[in-house]
Amino acid sequence: MKILIMTDIEGISGVDDWEQVHRHGWEGEEKARERLMADTNAAVEGAIRAGADTVYVVDGHGSGKNFIPGRLDPRATQISVAEYLDIFAREKIDACLEIGIHAKPGTTHAFLEHVQSSKNWFAYRVNGVDYGEIAQGALYAGAYDVPFVMLSGDDAVCREGRELFGSNLACAEVKRGISWKKAESIDFEEAETRIRDAVEDGIRRRAEFKPFKLPLPLTIEVTFLRADICEEYMEMYPQLERIDSRTLRRISPEVKTYKDVLLY
Ligand SMILES: [Zn+2]
Repeated sequence: MKILIMTDIEGISGVDDWEQVHRHGWEGEEKARERLMADTNAAVEGAIRAGADTVYVVDGHGSGKNFIPGRLDPRATQISVAEYLDIFAREKIDACLEIGIHAKPGTTHAFLEHVQSSKNWFAYRVNGVDYGEIAQGALYAGAYDVPFVMLSGDDAVCREGRELFGSNLACAEVKRGISWKKAESIDFEEAETRIRDAVEDGIRRRAEFKPFKLPLPLTIEVTFLRADICEEYMEMYPQLERIDSRTLRRISPEVKTYKDVLLY
């Protein structure tokens, strides 16, 4: 059995202050990377307990340089973001999950809610409905009939996941969102136990989850924070259609790679 674990940093246990993600070179950033390895390794353990013989892991936040070298559980195989772009086309994966994810833009009391760029993007929509990054990964996997079985992060991301995939989704709530800038983490050992158990549970119950699909073609829209930002994106991606002063649209006829669920 092959499992794919995507990781992000905003929803990692112990990442409870926005500066840990946004202020580079600060000591809190190192703590975030330590906790990223701990949560990720707990997930690898859970996958192996559930019977996985191949566990792929992606360092998915920002430019993908967050993992501390040599600290990933050696039973897992790290793949690059570039390899992730078409992994489902190349290999039969049995289930996917996401560790350390955050809620979509507009979610109240959600720690660091955003989609792709909190500086530039206001909203991401598919077929007229607002989504975030959980849906993007699940939509890509769903195109290859791979179910999304588990996630970890704050209480808001667990609610969002259950709304998308069903109330039986395996979730590890490792903190409570207080505001965009602050969260309250639970005990770290407890966080790792929750992740390990939820990963094992979600994978064992993978047959319960329908692959996440939306009607094709996908109408993908991004609304930017301001019109000038939208205009900068138009210069970079002239193929996109402008819908209003701050919104660009793309019609995606099918989902073959991860890029097919994105705006460009
Ligand atoms: Zn991130």
